[in-house]
Amino acid sequence: MKILCVARNYALHANEMQSAIPQEPVFFEKPDSALNPKQLPFFYPDFSNDVQHEIELVVRIERLGKCIQPQYASKYYSAVALGIDFTARDLQRKAKEQGLPWLISKGFDGSAVVSPFIPLAELGQPINNLEFSLSRNGQKVQEGNSADMLFSVDQLIAHLSRFITLRTGDLLFTGTPAGVGPVAIGDKLTGTLQRREILSLDIK
Ligand code: MG
Repeated sequence: MKILCVARNYALHANEMQSAIPQEPVFFEKPDSALNPKQLPFFYPDFSNDVQHEIELVVRIERLGKCIQPQYASKYYSAVALGIDFTARDLQRKAKEQGLPWLISKGFDGSAVVSPFIPLAELGQPINNLEFSLSRNGQKVQEGNSADMLFSVDQLIAHLSRFITLRTGDLLFTGTPAGVGPVAIGDKLTGTLQRREILSLDIK
């Protein structure tokens, strides 16, 4: 399975990164070894001094698809999860400065945390109107709504699948809203989707 991620899909996050608003979606990939689907503790790695949280909505692809038209994209998923796209910001900064790939800074072991998936039918909301948040030690640090995505989930799926075949089980991290910041050993991160807490993670 693939873990495909979008960079800069919320304008306020692009601003905080001092990055331009993209004209078309920008994707990167994490290896499957990055996945932490059971909310096991995140062990702070020794190669970074600036690991940051990025809370995101995650969609799981449920059918094989290629060149999916936007109007049919919603047939390729039926549930949504919260994810944390952990980023070694210092390594990413260095890579950006040198024009090098983000693989190491974004794809290290444990960098893709995924909560249980909640059926959209159960949430009773369309995918493009979901609110979510991340708290660090009980204090809310990130808050977003998928209505504010620069590229909707369906647009992302349509765009990606022109180039890359999507398979059952592939995960799509759909970008983080503003408020990214560092984590520290001893922190507890909790995430809510539609005010339901579905993600909880200790930093060790
Ligand atoms: Mg991200």
